[in-house]
Amino acid sequence: MERKQMYIDGEWTSGTSGKTFEVINPANGEVLAEVAESSVEDTRAAIAAAKRSFYETREWRDMDSQARSDLLLKIADRIEEELDSFAMLDSLDNGKPLREAQGDVADGVHCFRYYAGLIRAPHGGVYDVNEGFGRMHSYTVHEPVGVCAQITPWNYPFLMAVWKLAPALAAGNSIVFKPSSVTPLSAIRLFELFEEAGLPRGAVNLVMGPGSTVGNELGESMDVDMVTFTGSTSVGKSLMRAASSNVKRIGLELGGKSPNVIFADADLEGAVEWAMIGIFFNQGEVCSAGSRIIIEESIRDQFVKRLAERANAITIGDPVRNPDMGPLVSKQHMEQVLAYIEKGKAEGATLVCGGERYTEGECAKGYFVRPTIFDNCTSDMTIVREEIFGPVVTIQTFRTKEEAIALANDTEYGLAGAVFTSDLTTAMTVIREIRAGITWINCYNPTFNEAPWGGYKQSGIGRELGVHGLEEYQEIKQININLTPGPVGWYEH
Ligand code: NAD
Repeated sequence: MERKQMYIDGEWTSGTSGKTFEVINPANGEVLAEVAESSVEDTRAAIAAAKRSFYETREWRDMDSQARSDLLLKIADRIEEELDSFAMLDSLDNGKPLREAQGDVADGVHCFRYYAGLIRAPHGGVYDVNEGFGRMHSYTVHEPVGVCAQITPWNYPFLMAVWKLAPALAAGNSIVFKPSSVTPLSAIRLFELFEEAGLPRGAVNLVMGPGSTVGNELGESMDVDMVTFTGSTSVGKSLMRAASSNVKRIGLELGGKSPNVIFADADLEGAVEWAMIGIFFNQGEVCSAGSRIIIEESIRDQFVKRLAERANAITIGDPVRNPDMGPLVSKQHMEQVLAYIEKGKAEGATLVCGGERYTEGECAKGYFVRPTIFDNCTSDMTIVREEIFGPVVTIQTFRTKEEAIALANDTEYGLAGAVFTSDLTTAMTVIREIRAGITWINCYNPTFNEAPWGGYKQSGIGRELGVHGLEEYQEIKQININLTPGPVGWYEH
């Protein structure tokens, strides 16, 4: 059995408590690895190391941007060399099909390269001002925030880590990182590469363990300058309360219940396929999943029939053998998804397909759930209101554009949304009315390192990726220079 350690102040360690936890393969319930569990003391040691690295030794913070950029490029190259083994870790650990994991790792490589490039591009602003005090030259510079704590979920173990680590490191921060305890393996390997690449001692620290202790300490600590979190809205709220301790800067990427609005004039086969990608990709364990299909009444029957045919044809199996869908991430999560399905039936939605655990052949011991479609759904149903985070989609219908917009926005979330239509005016009006941060027209889910990612409403605060993703990890300082030194005569009246 492989035993994995945490990484604090440039050393791999088993931590102070000697406790470990098991990482399980959701395809068969077998133990993949045993991981050292960080205590609150370990978490404090990691924070102290990051603090020393940022405020005392300052090696990473003061490194010239060319050298820092080169180091990030080196990390990207090393990840690329190990792309297949990184992908295998996520596939085994999370249950996602191997080819999807390979896509995640390739995206992560580009994310490191993007931020390595971005820190060498011009940024900041220059303002020539003269507002009563003589001529002034005013400009802004970007500086790292300081000690950043970063907490990630289990659905994209590698990619969510990179979306946080790459921009925070590019900006020159020192970091304490905590992956989900369900899926820590690819993050551990990434930190081994950080060490090998020569990141200075204390600039990156890895702690692992329960959110309620380790995560909460990261939120509350007076020595953490910023906390960024990707995960559920309920934990995001508790972290926000913890972060008030020293008015930390905070970034939250939270849950979603995103509308996928389909008009009768849309290309039907295209809409069906994108709807499948929207809800069954990554087993539906996607924050931006198109989990609420809102379809024009006149094409509902035809659409649902076609969607069900294709959902029933989805192959399910061991994710490393590349089926269409692997298992859900854990037994506990599978049970939660199945409980939602039961609730959907009890509340009167029509089960069109799926709706049960899948246990055929090699899947007998794993946590597999069949792709599930519920028709005749109404806005008050639990399955329409709450994030299920599995391969379960609800169908609602509309007759007018206004009705479609009202249904789309009838949610506390605001992460993503899409519209399918061949009418440009309809597409543009509906997309502008959807209160969500990431939207698509005639497609669902494509994401780019260059474009900002984040939610409205209870889906979060701030943006990852793109220029915004770097600026989240930077303070902006305004510097004002008086171009006419000497007395200004303010008190002479
Ligand atoms: P989760 O909220 O249960 O856990 C996320 C992380 O927070 C884990 O590392 C966990 O250990 C930690 N945590 C738990 N309790 C904590 C506490 N009290 N204080 C600090 N940290 C704590 O989420 P999950 O089940 O791992 O992931 C699924 C959720 O993540 C879904 O809601 C999904 O929508 C969301 N998500 C959002 C995005 C986005 O970009 N908006 C991306 C991926 C996932």
